[in-house]
Amino acid sequence: MAEKKTGKPPTGGVGDLGQSFAVNLVQHLVVPTFVLDADCNVLIWNKACERLTGVPAVELIGTREHWRAFYDSPRPCLADLLVQGRMKEVEALYVAHNDPTGPAFGAHAENWCIMPCLGTELYLAIDAGPIYDADGKLLAVIETLRDMTDHRRAQTALEQLATRDGLTGIANRRSFDEKLGNEWKRERRDLRTLSLLMIDVDHFKRFNDTYGHQAGDHCLQQIAKVLEEVVLRPGDLVARYGGEEFAVILSATDAMGASIVANRILERVAELAIPHSGGEGGHVSLSIGVATSLPRPDMTRESLISSADGALYKAKHAGRNRFVLDSATEAVT
Ligand code: GH3
Ligand code: MG
Ligand code: MG
Repeated sequence: MAEKKTGKPPTGGVGDLGQSFAVNLVQHLVVPTFVLDADCNVLIWNKACERLTGVPAVELIGTREHWRAFYDSPRPCLADLLVQGRMKEVEALYVAHNDPTGPAFGAHAENWCIMPCLGTELYLAIDAGPIYDADGKLLAVIETLRDMTDHRRAQTALEQLATRDGLTGIANRRSFDEKLGNEWKRERRDLRTLSLLMIDVDHFKRFNDTYGHQAGDHCLQQIAKVLEEVVLRPGDLVARYGGEEFAVILSATDAMGASIVANRILERVAELAIPHSGGEGGHVSLSIGVATSLPRPDMTRESLISSADGALYKAKHAGRNRFVLDSATEAVT
């Protein structure tokens, strides 16, 4: 047993937990496990926990320093929250967790942990369960850990593949459709205005023909970066709609706000000054169609897209390198 190794008697009394056989069992479990007593002192730090964290039991038994194995500054672990009845704090301390008001028999949470002794971050899935005596008094909390780092990284990579455009790194068409659907519902519910910009690179076929497809790809990447720099609000979305077309969703934004953003995008792309002998004024430029949702029963999110598309078409025909407001949108501004 760990307390024999250290010579430090545990403050909470392992004997209360049952036979030494049970303690031995925990010590040799292949699942990384530690146990805190009702004062948050470490009673057991099993061998698998030593292997996972790189911290030997001898350094922690009888102390409240178990946080050192996971983080670089003091903070409660899930077991501490359970012992101290502070489960409400789980939300602020973990990236994922089950309902803290849920079952009284245990808690689950997940977190990126610094792991100071290993020098490498791990994503841990953590379960903590209370142990009560026959009178219902809390004796200890047992915490088990699972290293989910590879799984989590693979999940993140899959999410990236599913939602991001490979060339530019911005949201893809699928994310755009999803976001517009959600924003549309919110807009109808909260009676807020939503604006959409449809953006198309001018004379881009000529650009490819003149400078090559790779230069074309690089140009699209630069434009995507500008869009991300101009559209900063967390509720907004910049997406690659397809080919050399981009779309921007501006939540809670009216036509005036959307026009300011469109103008800023045109200015910033002009500042890039990407040479384009066949373009407007010798440089790469954009045309933008702007539409804003209107409180009309016949307006749908599809009609918002068509309105922005129609305005884009007009911008092309009016000479490119400009933005045009959809006529219905303009009429109410
Ligand atoms: P307009 O000003 O009317 O928009 O003319 P345009 O030449 O830009 O329009 P068009 O639709 O004729 O051509 C679009 C071009 O965009 C053709 C296509 O090869 C190019 N394109 C689409 N996606 C990509 C891409 O991922 N990389 C590169 N390099 N080119 C692309
Ligand atoms: Mg196009
Ligand atoms: Mg084009």
